[in-house]
Amino acid sequence: MSTTTIIERCTGLFEDLDFTAAREWKAAEPGRKVIGFMPVYVPEEIIHAAGMLPLGIVGGGDQLEVIHGDAYYQSYICRIPRSTIELGVSKRLDFVDGMLFPSICDVIRNLSGMWKMLYPKVYVRYFDVPQNYVDDVGGEYYRRELEELRDGLAKLGGREITDEAINASITIYNERRSLVREIYAFRSERPWKAPATEVYLLMRAGLVLPVEEHIEMMHDYLAAAEAEDRPIRDSCRVVVSGSFCEQPPLNLIKSIEMSGCYVVDDDYMLVNRWLLDDVDPTGDPLKNLADAFLHHSADTAAKYCAKREDVGRFLLDSVRKSKAEGVIFAAPSFCDPALLERPMLADRMSEHDIPHISFKYAENSGQMQPIREQAGTFADSIKLWS
Ligand code: SF4
Repeated sequence: MSTTTIIERCTGLFEDLDFTAAREWKAAEPGRKVIGFMPVYVPEEIIHAAGMLPLGIVGGGDQLEVIHGDAYYQSYICRIPRSTIELGVSKRLDFVDGMLFPSICDVIRNLSGMWKMLYPKVYVRYFDVPQNYVDDVGGEYYRRELEELRDGLAKLGGREITDEAINASITIYNERRSLVREIYAFRSERPWKAPATEVYLLMRAGLVLPVEEHIEMMHDYLAAAEAEDRPIRDSCRVVVSGSFCEQPPLNLIKSIEMSGCYVVDDDYMLVNRWLLDDVDPTGDPLKNLADAFLHHSADTAAKYCAKREDVGRFLLDSVRKSKAEGVIFAAPSFCDPALLERPMLADRMSEHDIPHISFKYAENSGQMQPIREQAGTFADSIKLWS
């Protein structure tokens, strides 16, 4: 199978705002249930162990006209909650049996309340995460959150979710994590063979496909990308940071590439990469998931960082590991978590002489020329003076 065929399939999934693949999965067997979740991270293993399909919802992108969604929110916030409401009221999510709203910001918290009021028959949970990384404080708290999620899903599904089932799911998700790491490493090593748009679409497909199918797709992509020859361009290597929740339009990612940048790391689709290592698939699965969250998870602006001196360390490591020559801070307009942390991250980059630029976007931004010019000038300046 060629990369073109695989990416065509991913593009179809990306553009399908009716979530046909998930609908078909649900219709294939009576009693199946689909659990939607918002960015940034939920433990999909527990949903999978319940026999349900985790379905990542990241707003409506630039294809969805928001008609009703604007009425639910003030104008000076990001777009993802409004387009998600639009998906709901336009009945595109009418097959979803539960929705999880992970703790990332007040906007998502408020959206969870609205969902409860709008859809009283749907299982809705605001999924809180620890802000303290001490095992018997934050770890214990998070473990109870996981227990409540497990019990809630068990009640919804009408069957117990055993430790054995969660451990089996952890094993499958470990395989996915490992493949995702492999693909990111492959792109970092040979970015001309795995363009950022392709890797983005491939990761995005993981939000809507059963994990087993996504694993197969990633295997196929890696094999195809390895085998295909593609021209090497005179592009500079950049890390994109700040895009962990509302997603940029695909054209924005294309524009960055076309302006002469190889994206060698990013924080898109963090749910696939939130846990950095394999999770122990033996023993108490909830404890192991909590331990992984506390001590082996991505330290981005999407996660509370208790020590100021640690802010930016993760990004610095990413720059070093991926041999990046610069950082593009690209965050959604009005995104508190990304934009409040950006000055601190930018300072850290400056302290280490890492060139950086920043801009904001909305998921439906249409005018790419200024971004192309900005990113192109940035790439040229790196090539000339770094
Ligand atoms: S884009 Fe930023 S502000 Fe908006 S919901 Fe996501 S994290 Fe919150």
